[in-house]
Amino acid sequence: MATTSYVIALGSNRWSRFGSPARTIRAALDRIGGVAAVAPVIASAPVGPSRRRFANTAAIIATAETPPELLARLKAIERDFGRRRGRRWAARSIDLDIILWSGGCWADSGLIVPHRDFRARTFVLAPLSRIAANWRDPVSGRTIRQLTARGARARKVDPAPRGH
Ligand code: ADP
Ligand code: MG
Repeated sequence: MATTSYVIALGSNRWSRFGSPARTIRAALDRIGGVAAVAPVIASAPVGPSRRRFANTAAIIATAETPPELLARLKAIERDFGRRRGRRWAARSIDLDIILWSGGCWADSGLIVPHRDFRARTFVLAPLSRIAANWRDPVSGRTIRQLTARGARARKVDPAPRGH
C-alpha cells in the first residue's frame, strides 16, 4: 500500500517511566516513527474529574498502515506506556488519537476518522494549526485554520456592560 499521512493528537497528564508528560509525549513520537512534523507541546487545563494538567501536541506521521492497523499500534503503545484502562478521562500516561487521514474518512465499529470531537477541542486544534493549518476536514469542508478561528470566535465573551 502507498504511504499515507495521518495527523495524530498526543496528550499526557501523568509521569511515566520516560519522565514528565512532555517527555512521555516525545518518547511516544519516537516509538510511533515516520514523524514528518511536530507541533510545540502545549499545557492545557484538565478535562473531567482528573485535576492534573495535560501536555498536548500533534504530529504528522507518514506510514503505509491502514487506519485500523495504525490504531492497533497506537493502542499497543498506550498500553506499553502504562495507561490505565477503565475510567474515561482518568489520569493517563499517554492518549494517542487519530485526528485526520490523507485518505479522507474512515468508519468502522472501533474507529472513526476524522476524530469525532476534534473540532470542539482547543487543545487539539491549537497544536494542529501549527503544522496542518491547510489540511481540510472532509466532513465540514473547513480547513484547520478555519476551524481554529471559529473556535476562538465562539469563545470570545461579550465585554461586561459599563455602568454609570
Ligand atoms: P478519548 O481519546 O476520547 O479520551 P479513549 O482514548 O478512551 O477516549 O478512546 C476510546 C476509544 O475510541 C478507543 O478505544 C478507540 O477504539 C475509539 N476511537 C474511535 N475513533 C478514534 C480515533 N479517531 N482515534 C483514536 N481512537 C478512536
Ligand atoms: Mg484516545
